[in-house]
Amino acid sequence: MECIFCKIIKGEVPAKKVYEDNNVLAFHDINPQAPIHILIIPKKHYSNILQTELREIEPIFSAIKNLVSDLGLEEGFRIVNNCGELGGQTVDHVHFHLLGKRKLTWPPG
Ligand code: 5GP
Repeated sequence: MECIFCKIIKGEVPAKKVYEDNNVLAFHDINPQAPIHILIIPKKHYSNILQTELREIEPIFSAIKNLVSDLGLEEGFRIVNNCGELGGQTVDHVHFHLLGKRKLTWPPG
């Protein structure tokens, strides 16, 4: 079965997009864990962060910086990457969570 995030990139599955360029797509998480919960993904499929090269991560963080400003998260936010089964990764297309607009606690579960 094809990756759900690849289907979102192709427009085959709907998503509330907040940012898109040639390399990166960002959209609202379907099951938000904070008032703002965005997923930022590379358009090229990699199963996890270990499969990517650094040059592919840079545009993602560039997009995150813009989103922080666009969404008014300057007071604080969290960026999360879950990697692998023990890391809690459930979708095998590398992605970063951007969470904000509530007081976030530590440590995560
Ligand atoms: P992970 O657990 O792999 O770090 O994060 C996967 C995230 O993808 C979860 O927070 C989950 O809610 C989100 N997700 C899974 N399927 C969909 C979907 O079809 N659309 C959207 N917008 N988010 C999804």
